[in-house]
Amino acid sequence: MPSTRADRNQTELAIRAASDALPHWSHSTPQRRADVLDRIGSEILARKDELGMLLAREEGKTLPEAVGEAARAGQIFKFFAGEALRIPGEIMASVRPGIQVDVTREPVGVVGIIAPWNFPLAIPAWKIAPALAYGNTVVFKPAELVPTCGWALADIISRSTLPAGVFNLVMGSGREVGQAFVDSPLVHALSFTGSVATGERILQAATARRAKVQLEMGGKNPLVVLADADLEQAVECALQGSYFSTGQRCTASSRLIVEAPVHDAFVARLRQRLASLKVGHALERGTDIGPVVDRAQLDQNQAYIEIARNEGAEHVWGGELLERPTPGHYMSPALFLARPEHRIAREEVFGPIACVLRADDYEHALALANDTPFGLCAGICTTSLKHAMHFKRHAEVGMTMVNLPTAGVDFHVPFGGRKGSSYGPARAGPLRRGVLHHRQDRLHAGLSH
Ligand code: NAD
Repeated sequence: MPSTRADRNQTELAIRAASDALPHWSHSTPQRRADVLDRIGSEILARKDELGMLLAREEGKTLPEAVGEAARAGQIFKFFAGEALRIPGEIMASVRPGIQVDVTREPVGVVGIIAPWNFPLAIPAWKIAPALAYGNTVVFKPAELVPTCGWALADIISRSTLPAGVFNLVMGSGREVGQAFVDSPLVHALSFTGSVATGERILQAATARRAKVQLEMGGKNPLVVLADADLEQAVECALQGSYFSTGQRCTASSRLIVEAPVHDAFVARLRQRLASLKVGHALERGTDIGPVVDRAQLDQNQAYIEIARNEGAEHVWGGELLERPTPGHYMSPALFLARPEHRIAREEVFGPIACVLRADDYEHALALANDTPFGLCAGICTTSLKHAMHFKRHAEVGMTMVNLPTAGVDFHVPFGGRKGSSYGPARAGPLRRGVLHHRQDRLHAGLSH
């Protein structure tokens, strides 16, 4: 009986197809590539509601979030259609007489793309579109939990007039399909997003055979709230960043570091807002938080709640399993008051769980923010330009947000972290340290205070 999961042999056939297609595609014109990417982007955008429905049903994020993600995937393809026409080169004077040096950018080759389940359209789009734009060919493995989104994306790509073999979808397990990408000498570069444990394994194997590798892994992102912050806005940033998308975002803020003078007021207000959130079916109008993605993730979330209680973190709100009219892995969003050594304050949970850490002052808050092996993103809520600018320079992360939730980034700028969160070049461009997203009106409002 045919299986929906590819085995190693089938994976190697797909890799071979990508390799065979490389000479032709890598020399295609930028216009040809731009046209293909634009076509893909147009179809995704035209079908964003339907794709969003598919995504919400499969992964469990709410329908508005899912439609937003589908639209973003379309915009990413459109953006890279334009980028295909803007591939730069340089002419340099030679140190030798009568010689000119051309510096050009060339495709890397066959790119193996290994994606997680939490953004099953946007993350693959953010990897596939640049790979194709710059003349590489692709083998793509979606996460096992989201095959339908992977299929839908591949189906759209298959109608874009790409030559056969340039893009290949391979469904299957990480151990079999993913590992085959990692091991194959025909795969020149690997782009992986997922957990630290898998990333480490891929890094070892890929560097051993000198493949280029880009890893985006976990986070334990801090959101600092200073005493001079607009408290209502800070609570909304925490709520959005920590709990929306069921907390299943690498950029989620799971450590809320609050300066002592506003600590109690912040916690009281956040608790109040948590009580007002509606946990329910992803497709139901008014749902704020959908179900946890699967049983294993729910069990992990519950285990961390148990650990937090056992280690002495103070329970403020939530964490209970919830019954809803339709079956699903529902739990209420959880909040704890923790100390920096608690595991809930140190380890990535990847669920709707956050903890608050009390800080004596700004310097203490910054030290707490940096006290983690991760370094994906960090946020600060403040009306002080001085502290916002200092935080931007000294938070040991790839991306800093000011008066914004930590989650939520632009697709046309580099995305990546530091320390244990990332390895290799940032997605969509070379890593420039400290991509700063900030709410301009708020920062200016802060200036006038
Ligand atoms: P995961 O590591 O379990 O799986 C990610 C992918 O790797 C899947 O496609 C899986 O099949 C594959 N895989 C598993 N074993 C493999 C192996 N031995 N060789 C090759 N591939 C293998 O992660 P997940 O549970 O799908 O995603 C959640 C994790 O992803 C979280 O830790 C989260 O922080 C992280 N994440 C990071 C970012 C970021 O940009 N930093 C974005 C989203 C998610």
